[in-house]
Amino acid sequence: MLPAELSAYHHLTTPVWIIDPHDERFIFANHAAQALMGDGTLNTLRFGALSACAQSRLSLYLSDLHHNAEIVEIWTVTTPGGEIPLRCRLTLASFPGLPQVILFEGANIPHAASEHSAHGAGYKSRRHNFYHRFFMTTTAPMLLIDPLRDGLIVDANLAALRFYGYRREEMFQKHTWEINTLGRQVLPVMAKIARLPGGHKPLYLVHRTADGSTRHVLTYAGPIMISGDRLMLCIIHDITEQKRLEQELEYAALRDSLTGLLNRRQFYALTEGQAASHLPLKSDYCLLLVDTDNFKAINDNWGHLKGDEVLVQLARILEACSRKGDLIFRWGGEEFVLLLPRTALDVALDVAESIRDSVSKTHDAGLPGFTVSIGVARHQAEETVDDLFRRVDKALYQAKNDGRNRVLAA
Ligand code: GH3
Ligand code: MG
Ligand code: MG
Repeated sequence: MLPAELSAYHHLTTPVWIIDPHDERFIFANHAAQALMGDGTLNTLRFGALSACAQSRLSLYLSDLHHNAEIVEIWTVTTPGGEIPLRCRLTLASFPGLPQVILFEGANIPHAASEHSAHGAGYKSRRHNFYHRFFMTTTAPMLLIDPLRDGLIVDANLAALRFYGYRREEMFQKHTWEINTLGRQVLPVMAKIARLPGGHKPLYLVHRTADGSTRHVLTYAGPIMISGDRLMLCIIHDITEQKRLEQELEYAALRDSLTGLLNRRQFYALTEGQAASHLPLKSDYCLLLVDTDNFKAINDNWGHLKGDEVLVQLARILEACSRKGDLIFRWGGEEFVLLLPRTALDVALDVAESIRDSVSKTHDAGLPGFTVSIGVARHQAEETVDDLFRRVDKALYQAKNDGRNRVLAA
C-alpha cells in the first residue's frame, strides 16, 4: 500500500518517478511519467540511445545525494514524435512506511525531436547517427556553427542550452557573435579556424548567457564535416571559477593581507622596470614615508591584535587623506609609503600634514590614540628609487628625533 502523499504527484504535468536505490525497483510513477515510459524499463530509460548517467548503479549516488549534490541524469523517453532526451533531477526523499528513495523529477518535456528537423532547429539528418547521440548526451556544452552563414548556431546540445539558458528555438536563431562579448570581431577568428586542416584550437573567450551574465570560457573550436557541410564544432568549458581564483591569487600577490593596501613588491614593480615608463612615475612624484610613533608600546600595552586594528585604522585614514591617483603601500610592520604622482613638494607636504593631523585627532572607542611621523621628499631627475628612499628615511629619522607627531621634508 503506497503512502497517500504520493498521489499528489499525479497532479503534476512533469514526470516524477520514485525508485528504491538498492533494488532499483519503481515504487511510484505519476501519470505523466507512466505516459512517457510506456512499457519501458529503468534500463531503457537510463541507458537508451540518448541517455547519459554518471553512475551505472543508483546506490552509488547515495553519498553525494546525502551531501545535497546537484545530480542530473538524461533519460531516453518516447513521445508521439519519437525518442527524446529528458533531463531528470535526482533528490533523496522519505515517505512514511517506505525505505529512503530517490525521487526523479523530469524537466518540462521538450518538443519531440522530429518537430525540430525543420530549418533552424537542430542539424538536418542527424537523428539516430553517432554524431547525434554523442552530441546530445555529452555533458560538455557544444555548439555547431556554420561559418558560411555569418556564424549561425545550427545546433546546440542540451548541456549548451542549459549553460546559456536559451530555449532551443531561441538558440538556433543566434549567431556566435551574439553570445560572444567580442561581438563581430570573433568572426575572422572563426573563419581562420574553419580553414584549418583539422584539430581543435583552444580559445579563451567571454560568453554572455540569456540572463545577461558573462562567463569565462575555454572554447575548443575546430572544423567538422557533417552531411557534406563544413561546419565548426565548438566545445565549451566554463572556466569562470578558475578565473576568479586566478584573480584572487593575483590580488593576494599584490596586496597586503592585513590592510588590503598594495605591498612593497608592487611598489618596486611600479617604480622600476617597464611599468615605470608607462606611469607618470619616472619623475615628478613625491614620496611620503609614514611611521607609527611608539608602536611597540601600543603592542605591549594593548596586545598584538589591537595593534593590528590600529594599523588597519591607519590604512583607512591614509586612504581618506590621499587623492585620486595616489598610491598607498604597506611598506612593512607599522610603516607605510605614499607615492603621489605629478605632485609638487608643497602639495605633498599638505597631504602629509592632513594625515598627521587626522591621525592625532582620531579616537575610536576601544582603540588607543596614536600619532605618526612622516618624511617627505620629491623625486629628483635621474635619482634612483633607493637614493630617494635614503633621503625620505633621513627626513623621517629627523622627525622622530624632533619629538615625533611631525612632518619633515628632505
Ligand atoms: P618609533 O616611534 O621610533 O617608530 O617606535 P616604534 O615602537 O613604533 O618602532 P619599533 O621599530 O621599535 O617597533 C615597531 C613594532 O611594530 C615592533 C613590531 O613588533 C611591531 N609590528 C610590526 N609588524 C606588526 C604587525 O603586523 N602587527 C602588529 N600588531 N605589530 C607589528
Ligand atoms: Mg618603524
Ligand atoms: Mg614606529
